[in-house]
Amino acid sequence: MQCKNVYRFPLDQKYSVKSKWRKLLWFIEDFAVGPHSGSLIHSIDFMVPVGTPIYAASNGIVVWIKKDSDKGGSSKKYLYDGNRIVIRHKDNEFTAYEHLRHNGVAVKLGQKVKEGQLIGYSGKTGLGFLPHLHFEVFSKPSKDQSEGTTLEARFKNIGKIRDGDL
Ligand SMILES: [Zn+2]
Repeated sequence: MQCKNVYRFPLDQKYSVKSKWRKLLWFIEDFAVGPHSGSLIHSIDFMVPVGTPIYAASNGIVVWIKKDSDKGGSSKKYLYDGNRIVIRHKDNEFTAYEHLRHNGVAVKLGQKVKEGQLIGYSGKTGLGFLPHLHFEVFSKPSKDQSEGTTLEARFKNIGKIRDGDL
């Protein structure tokens, strides 16, 4: 299912251009850790280096943060070690940004954010083989609003992007 809102690309625009190099990194990541499945099926991995600035994809409120992790790797044991931000937007849609670097969260729980506002820095915490930003648009949130059922993401000026497209 497609999302209702149209979102701002969560990185600098230069990363919205197709790149064979990033596609190759994505294939390696996908091979090492496995494809997104189940409720995460429409997640998108953006292959960017540690420390890449991340921007809010739309106006909203920060409803979930994990920022204390400094652990990560391709073993399933790291599944819950990814630093993560979740923002609630209109129409009960949420965006999530995961694998942020240790202390790479630049917002606070409950904070109102504007579209395009710097919210953190990418990293390599949690379940992953290479540094990247894991991005989700989701609805049907869990009680704590930390996760939900992912939707196909649509972006301003770019349209629909699937995992591995960029
Ligand atoms: Zn991912």
